[in-house]
Amino acid sequence: MTALLLKSGRVIDPACNRDGTFDLLVRDGRVSAIGRDIPVSKEAEVVDASRLWISPGLIDVHVHLRDPGFPEKETISTGLRAAAAGGITTVAAMANTSPVNDRPKIARYMIERARDVHGTALVPVSAVSKELAGAEIVDFDAMAEAGARLFSDDGIAVDDPNLLRRALERTSRLGFAISLHEEDRSLSCNGAVNAGAVARRLSVSGYSGEAESERIRRDLSIALNANAPVHIAHVSTAESVALIRAARSEGAQVTCEVTPHHFALDDSAALTWGPNAKMNPPLRSRRDVEAIHASIADGTIDMIASDHAPHEPRSKHMAEFAGLFGPELAPPHLSPDDAANFARVANGIVGLETSLGLALALVHRGLISAARLVSMMSASPARLLKLARGRLAVGDTADITVINPDLEWTVEPDKFLSRSRNTPFSGTRLKGRALLTIVAGEIVFDGRKSLAR
Ligand SMILES: [Zn+2]
Repeated sequence: MTALLLKSGRVIDPACNRDGTFDLLVRDGRVSAIGRDIPVSKEAEVVDASRLWISPGLIDVHVHLRDPGFPEKETISTGLRAAAAGGITTVAAMANTSPVNDRPKIARYMIERARDVHGTALVPVSAVSKELAGAEIVDFDAMAEAGARLFSDDGIAVDDPNLLRRALERTSRLGFAISLHEEDRSLSCNGAVNAGAVARRLSVSGYSGEAESERIRRDLSIALNANAPVHIAHVSTAESVALIRAARSEGAQVTCEVTPHHFALDDSAALTWGPNAKMNPPLRSRRDVEAIHASIADGTIDMIASDHAPHEPRSKHMAEFAGLFGPELAPPHLSPDDAANFARVANGIVGLETSLGLALALVHRGLISAARLVSMMSASPARLLKLARGRLAVGDTADITVINPDLEWTVEPDKFLSRSRNTPFSGTRLKGRALLTIVAGEIVFDGRKSLAR
């Protein structure tokens, strides 16, 4: 198939200031025409896109694909298929693999494996420090040469301010940002859930909001002095967004992302979901969630990223907690042994296949427009990664997500294409999902048969 005609869809393309009903013709991997009543040619596959949205392909700047190193959690192959099913056409794959992506060989391995999948595109995220050990910086030029377009020790904070300063000198010369996992570990104290009533109720250790915001305060000042771009990963607290807003008004080149779980859930979800609601940073208080909503609405938060973090049941200690947590159960009183175990549960949840559905709730509730959603999930991430993506002008590479915004569905982890099932959204009703995911003109996910219209 060399041509695809999307008929009468709502093309939402904020980068080109377009939001209206159009036909869009894809030919030889590129957008070849946008207009009203584009004639149907013999060779083109025609898709009736009425009542559907035609968005530039979604880009997720924060994804853990666990490859190389952890095939029991995910592989590049399973992860990219999950991404395609979630409507995502490009993922930035984090560096905390085994071996760590701190040398060109690993970045090239990731790109080659992704090429074999013929699906969602992969951009490798290079580590900032070798082995993520925070002691020695990587060869930034060599990593960029190998294909890295973002740098991050995500999962571990960069503790040494001098190392961060030196890293920012190098990355800003290359024109790329460092994505910062912001955590002062002397304040987070390996806390299991947000410090407060939920931590007390479960008798588990608390992780304070200051652990995040104090480190953001430090790093924004370093970035401002270095005049270098930084990206703050997974912001979760009211103070964090206030600091980012203030630094931006002083001229800091700062962008930030929020995860769907940090705007959709508060820390009380840990009472229901236990290990599947444990992540770093943790789910926060209602007050924090409300501040996050306000910052999504006012534009302080630039983008949505899943922080897709697959784990197999063993890393989540699911057997030990069987029968203790669940939507039908009262929150348990954990024994001291259970509480110690809870602190050891691996952090993170899968997100590639629920991200769009959770984000669409922001539109359905009237918090943001559809165009702003597309900015947050496509145009802004493309800018961060310096990719010629995130828009649909004639001649652009045809990375497109066709979305049915009204399709109601239930999250069923057993149906995930990801290898892992760790989610606190099991059974959640969502409205809207990707119907077609198109990468460079090829349909890499087709939900037309499996998903009723
Ligand atoms: Zn992180």
